[in-house]
Amino acid sequence: LDPTLVSDLQATLRDVPDFPKPGIVFKDITPMLADPRLFGRVVTAMSAPFRGKHITKVVGVESRGFILGAPIALALEAGFVPARKPGKLPHRSIVERYSLEYGADGVEMHEDAILKDERVLVVDDVLATGGTAEATARLISRLGGDIVGFSFLITLDFLAGAKRLGPDKVTSVLSF
Ligand code: AMP
Repeated sequence: LDPTLVSDLQATLRDVPDFPKPGIVFKDITPMLADPRLFGRVVTAMSAPFRGKHITKVVGVESRGFILGAPIALALEAGFVPARKPGKLPHRSIVERYSLEYGADGVEMHEDAILKDERVLVVDDVLATGGTAEATARLISRLGGDIVGFSFLITLDFLAGAKRLGPDKVTSVLSF
């Protein structure tokens, strides 16, 4: 338990209006990443709900999901898997397309990144519409993985992304 984490994050995270498009309030996590104690507390809080759940792979979504997902994977003694924008991965990959809060995109994963029946946690910084995380979950399911949950730093509740993912599977430190 870290009772001051939420207020410390509220004081540290930066809202950037109209980035990358008019009407979007971008949640900038870089001031948190620059503070090693706060970054460590975030990793602990985002890992905590999944301790003892036998997670074998943590999937981090490009690109801020890499920064958060890698230390969470180590904390859970799980492997790390990058879910990347199309065309970036060197080995044979599978792809899923989706639409998101600001545009349309796709996500790719190496076809051997997740083995059948692996227990998988998906990590990203912000849950908005849920399109990115849902597409990532489809990749994991296609490879035979079992999605144990989703860990976000921030949930934008008004966009109802958790409904698409199964609310019981979604955890986040902060919600707006
Ligand atoms: P979505 O697929 O709509 O849930 O969008 C989630 C993805 O877009 C995540 O990878 C987030 O990093 C990014 N994202 C969406 N909205 C925001 C926001 N307001 N601030 C920062 N990142 C965002």
